[in-house]
Amino acid sequence: MTEIVMQNLGKDFGDFTALANMDLTIGDGEFVALLGPSGCGKSTTMNMIAGMLTPSHGDIRFDGRNMNDVPMAKRGVGFVFQNYAIFTHMTVRDNLAYGLKAQGVSKSEITRRVGEMAELLQLSPMLDRKAAGLSVNILQRLAIGRSAVVEPAIFLLDEPLSNVDAAFRAVMRSELKALQRQFKQTMVYVTHDQLEAMTMADRIAVMDHGKLLQVGTPLEVYNNPVDTFVAQFIGAPGMNLLSGTVTGGDTGNVIDLGSAGHSGPVTTGQGGDVLFGFRPEQVHPDPNGPLEMRIVTVERIGARTILHLDAGARRAKAVLDSETPHPDQGELFRFSVAASDARLFDSATQGAL
Ligand code: ATP
Repeated sequence: MTEIVMQNLGKDFGDFTALANMDLTIGDGEFVALLGPSGCGKSTTMNMIAGMLTPSHGDIRFDGRNMNDVPMAKRGVGFVFQNYAIFTHMTVRDNLAYGLKAQGVSKSEITRRVGEMAELLQLSPMLDRKAAGLSVNILQRLAIGRSAVVEPAIFLLDEPLSNVDAAFRAVMRSELKALQRQFKQTMVYVTHDQLEAMTMADRIAVMDHGKLLQVGTPLEVYNNPVDTFVAQFIGAPGMNLLSGTVTGGDTGNVIDLGSAGHSGPVTTGQGGDVLFGFRPEQVHPDPNGPLEMRIVTVERIGARTILHLDAGARRAKAVLDSETPHPDQGELFRFSVAASDARLFDSATQGAL
């Protein structure tokens, strides 16, 4: 187990800043996901932690020791990439044993640890098969096992599930979590998939355009996004944002949302242009609610129904249990959002108010 500290960490490629001033501490045995869209600097950050890239400025420390000039092989990190690197001519068993043999671990200990890892990752039935004949799903599972079996103090995974199919990805999410619970490594996991980050990580670091925007537990970033980018990137679908103006109402200030109605009372001062945010799953059908939008499309996905709503230029989505009654496509839908669920953002800065 190792604590990772990144302080004022940055990387420039010529004039282009891939990562600007990252400050982030990842605790001993913590599972942190670096989450953001393609090109936001996740892999650049990861490659600096691994020692494959040298920082342009700032420091990386493992347990207080500066790592800037320590080569990758001496950092004690395990690294799994999107494209598995497996020795295809070897058996599954030999692939799993490879790193342990290189470390000079005894034969009996290798047998025990390979067996344990194969059991954990459901590779036991194929231990004596050549890797060459195995599916992409199994090869990626093997790549994870081969890195994990040497029990590195720090385990880095860069989009390890992006090439495997959806059903297998769901299985691997719980297996990776189980792997970390068992070995208690410090884990850094790069992904652009918010569901992976939300389901596995202790904390999520949301990044965009080379900047760290917010760090928090999955619930913290879901409930209290610092800006509209995080609000919409987290959640599926993301947070609704309706443009409005704070005006005086009978029972205090409300947000005038044009033909979509108005919000409940807010404490924000009058006159400001704001974005009224609420999660699709926090929409309550309510015949007396202050909000009204037309149902453009009804999307039924098993236990849930997604209503696509509009009111002029304003668009929103509502997620309901499939049992919940609602008007038909083309009709008006009246609803409310609890005051405690509503979030306000400044239209100009896009930051949370
Ligand atoms: P992806 O998921 O697409 O890999 P990412 O968030 O991991 O995205 P990075 O790979 O860290 O992003 O890249 C961040 C930015 O830095 C990108 O715009 C990329 O084109 C640029 N970049 C990365 N490596 C280099 C390099 N060696 N030279 C120049 N630019 C680079």
